[in-house]
Amino acid sequence: MFLNRVPKVLVAAFCACVILSTLPVGYLLNELSTLRWNVQQLQNMTSDSTRIRAVSNKIDGLITNLEIVTLDPQPAKRAEFIGATDLSLKLLTHSIRQLWDSEANLFKVPQFVKLHELSDKLSADWNAIKPKVINGLSQADKVAFFVKYSNDIKLSRATLEELQDYSKKISDTKVHSSYERLEFSSLLVATGLMIWIAITVCVFIYIFRLLISSQRANHDLASTQTALERRSRQLVEAQRLGKIGDWSYRLGESGARWGDELYELLDYDPETFTPTDRTVQELFIGNGAQLFLDAQSEVLRTGKVKSIDVKFKRGNGTIGDFVLTSKQLTDDNGRTIGIAGTIQDISERKDAEFQLEKLAYYDPLTGLANRAMFHREMNELLKRCERTDAQGALLLLDLDRFKDVNDSLGHAAGDELLTKVSHLISRALGGQHFLSRLGGDEFAIIIADCHELAKIEQVAAEIVTLASEPITLEAGEVNIGTSIGISLLPRDGNNASDLLRHADLALYRAKEEGRGRYAFFEPEMNTAVKFKTGLARDLRHAVSEDFGLEVHYQPQIDVSNENDAVAGFEALMRWNHPKQGPVPPSEFIPIAESSRLICDLGAWILRQSVMQASQWLEAGEPERSIAVNISAAQIWHMDLTKQVEQVLQETNLPPHLLCLELTESLFADHSEAQVRSVLNELKKLGVTLALDDFGTGFSSLGYLTQLPFDKLKIDRIFIDGVATSERAQELLGGIVALGRGLGMTVVGEGAERQEEVDLLRKLGCHVVQGYYFARPTKATEALQFTQKFETAQNNENDLDAYLDDHLLPVAV
Ligand code: C2E
Ligand code: MG
Ligand code: MG
Repeated sequence: MFLNRVPKVLVAAFCACVILSTLPVGYLLNELSTLRWNVQQLQNMTSDSTRIRAVSNKIDGLITNLEIVTLDPQPAKRAEFIGATDLSLKLLTHSIRQLWDSEANLFKVPQFVKLHELSDKLSADWNAIKPKVINGLSQADKVAFFVKYSNDIKLSRATLEELQDYSKKISDTKVHSSYERLEFSSLLVATGLMIWIAITVCVFIYIFRLLISSQRANHDLASTQTALERRSRQLVEAQRLGKIGDWSYRLGESGARWGDELYELLDYDPETFTPTDRTVQELFIGNGAQLFLDAQSEVLRTGKVKSIDVKFKRGNGTIGDFVLTSKQLTDDNGRTIGIAGTIQDISERKDAEFQLEKLAYYDPLTGLANRAMFHREMNELLKRCERTDAQGALLLLDLDRFKDVNDSLGHAAGDELLTKVSHLISRALGGQHFLSRLGGDEFAIIIADCHELAKIEQVAAEIVTLASEPITLEAGEVNIGTSIGISLLPRDGNNASDLLRHADLALYRAKEEGRGRYAFFEPEMNTAVKFKTGLARDLRHAVSEDFGLEVHYQPQIDVSNENDAVAGFEALMRWNHPKQGPVPPSEFIPIAESSRLICDLGAWILRQSVMQASQWLEAGEPERSIAVNISAAQIWHMDLTKQVEQVLQETNLPPHLLCLELTESLFADHSEAQVRSVLNELKKLGVTLALDDFGTGFSSLGYLTQLPFDKLKIDRIFIDGVATSERAQELLGGIVALGRGLGMTVVGEGAERQEEVDLLRKLGCHVVQGYYFARPTKATEALQFTQKFETAQNNENDLDAYLDDHLLPVAV
């Protein structure tokens, strides 16, 4: 088990090291045996030396004997010595033979051979002489024998010494080489030992570390097991908290396996409910079962994890939203053996999402879809239009007098009105078309998949009619009405913002044309809008820079007395555009009115003209009124009363000389009560009020009796050509009579011909303003006219001549 963990390479390396380290040991053993043999040889040599020494001693003894023998002692003594000599010689011969026999290898050197031969010769010579010795030697024999014999003995001794030297040399060489080899062997052994020690240390360290890591691994394993157990517990807890259950299905089996948590999650009893194909499929609501089957086959086919949102029937009968996640189940060889997965209860999240969606996509007041939802719906329709040849329409609605209701009856009534209108419209649409509230009193209807223009018109007309009916609120009955702008998809745009912008332009046109109607977008509207936007920008610039704007004054002639006189002037705005030249007020005043710019323009001309009137007065001119046109926006969007008061104070113009001309558009979005309250406030300042362009708007005669107007300015349309039409004269006479009857100063506007002036005079009109007398001109010219006109008044002929000469260009 432990060895299994040691890498094979390491084992191989270890074995190799062991083998390598044993090589010196083998070599050493070999060397030791060589050494032992050498030592053995030395020992032998030592014993041989001893024997040689013994031989040498014997030779010495022999020589001594020989010397004694040759001295010829007594025969008895001689016999003793002869015996001793025999013995010595025998011993010598024996010793040499012994040496020869024992160490044939070592001593078969020439010296030894020589020694051997010498001993043989000695013996032979002795044996030859011995009989003579016994009897006693002659002196000559003695000498010859002694010389001969002692030479041999000397030679033997010298040979012996040579032999001894030789043996010593050999033994020295052997000892030396043995030492050297022993040294080398020791070195090898030391190296081997060191390798051994190193290997052993490494092996020990390795084993030690292995043991420690094994211990650590064991420890880790134990803590991992603990962690795993803890995680398993946490997982179960997490599953419970996260409302997750697990399931698995093995191919070929008839049913699935559900985990305990899943039974608990879906509220089924494991004892009574078995998750077979059939029972499980019955739990799905809607097309959930089919979705699940599709998801399973996709998972098996692709091997990818797949999640689907489904609705399930719980054991307690309730229905919940769940996420069903499936993944492939494989065996150790990677073969697919089934599918496993989880089911998570996401009902609460879905509920929250639904609530959030409601908040994000629906208008809390009316319950209708809001702007975000509108965009979603619109984009979907646009996509459909792109893919197919689908068509549709966007109807943009704006309630005509909503602001009026909101301002007069309060926001609660405004909210109630919005709710009622939205109910009315949605009921009329009958769920066929998408209705949303974009904000304020702006609604949008999307008519999808409709090719027929007539059908779109029918829907628009129906809603216009419906909205024109009185609506009963808690605070009372109100009349509002609606205008509708229509853009067509995809003709008028391929995105929501273009379609909205175009529908808005059409709505603007519908309002311009008098409200309570619908209008389709036309491309020219775009050009007109671009032109108007440019003008508006330049006009704003002109106001802020006070550049290009001018006031012209048109005299108003009092024709009620014997002598006509200039009763006052109407201040009229002129704008000289830096590039386009003079722009008529009929063009730039509506542009200014469509934004708050008219308030700035109005304030500017009010100050300019009142200052002018005051200067004239200071210059000694008689009191003449100055009429200033006031736009409805100035009344509703700023504090006009305060502004007028301030200007009067600053200029010291007597208030009654200032006449504010208001048109019937004042009533467009406001109730009579509101208008009256503002007019009364203005009246309190002492200014006079004129109802301008009378007869062109929608003022009811009832208003005239209730509102504090001092003057009635009859519009030019009643005067133009009146001289030739009896019916027009009757109408004009009626209007003049009405004004007079109400105690108002009646002003006839736009008289271009003398007949018209005469008629107006005849009908009882107090003041006439028209080109017949004078066009609007600069202040100096207007004053010049006045002075000349009044001078000429004193001489009737002068007047006619004056008028003929100067003041009838239009009539020509
Ligand atoms: P308005 O207030 O009814 O002014 C009278 C208009 O009738 C003036 O046109 C004047 O030039 C014109 N007029 C007077 N007599 C005759 C005539 O005999 N024949 C013809 N054909 N026209 C005559 P103007 O100056 O073009 O002004 C047009 C309208 O623009 C004004 O009608 C007024 O509603 C508006 N306007 C002009 N200046 C101002 C201003 O400073 N503030 C506001 N809010 N509106 C202004
Ligand atoms: Mg006017
Ligand atoms: Mg007018």
